[in-house]
Amino acid sequence: VNTVTLLAVSKTFADRAIRDMHGLGQREFGENYVQEAVEKIAALADLDPRPQWHLIGPLQSNKTRVVAEQFDWVHTVDRLKIAQRLADQRPAWLPPLQICLQVNVDHEPSKSGLRPEELLDTARAVVQLPASRLVLRGLMAIPEPRAEAAAQRQPFAALRRCLESLRAELGAAGATLDTLSMGMSADLEAAVAEGATMVRVGTALFGTR
Ligand SMILES: *Cc1c(COP(=O)(O)O)cnc(C)c1O
Repeated sequence: VNTVTLLAVSKTFADRAIRDMHGLGQREFGENYVQEAVEKIAALADLDPRPQWHLIGPLQSNKTRVVAEQFDWVHTVDRLKIAQRLADQRPAWLPPLQICLQVNVDHEPSKSGLRPEELLDTARAVVQLPASRLVLRGLMAIPEPRAEAAAQRQPFAALRRCLESLRAELGAAGATLDTLSMGMSADLEAAVAEGATMVRVGTALFGTR
């Protein structure tokens, strides 16, 4: 049986809400907007144990430095250049940044994420980056919303198969790929049924934004 990590998505919620959730034992927090996150990370620097901060929103190349310096995880790496910059800019005194490649599982035009066909080449290049700075942990997707549970499972199953085939193709180099970041408040059961190891939950924990 897989364990599933609950990532509390705290975007738009105040520091107080994060403090309260931390007081209840929650340690992993997801933020979408780099600037908002950096302010919260500073305001919550006294929390002990220190929370793990996950970037789950889009990352432009001009913001990689601050992300490399302040986050623990980035779920939304969608091109090699971003991974290279994060590896270069990760400070030597920190543990390696943990990253996921974001996959556009529904092939939606104009949506971020790698096309499944691009995944293998990108992953091959990412695992060559210095492991002391950056570790490829797995895949992330934000499928189109679907109402029915059976329909919700399809893109999650597709992402799971992408991870399985990457692991098979990469062999020993893919040994760190253990993460499927998928499922939000509206579809987390479907995601867990398809093997999610990390669910990203906002409204179901904090209330409506
Ligand atoms: C906002 C957000 C979530 C959480 O969504 P909820 O519907 O509030 O649970 C999860 N993942 C990403 C990428 C998000 O932007």
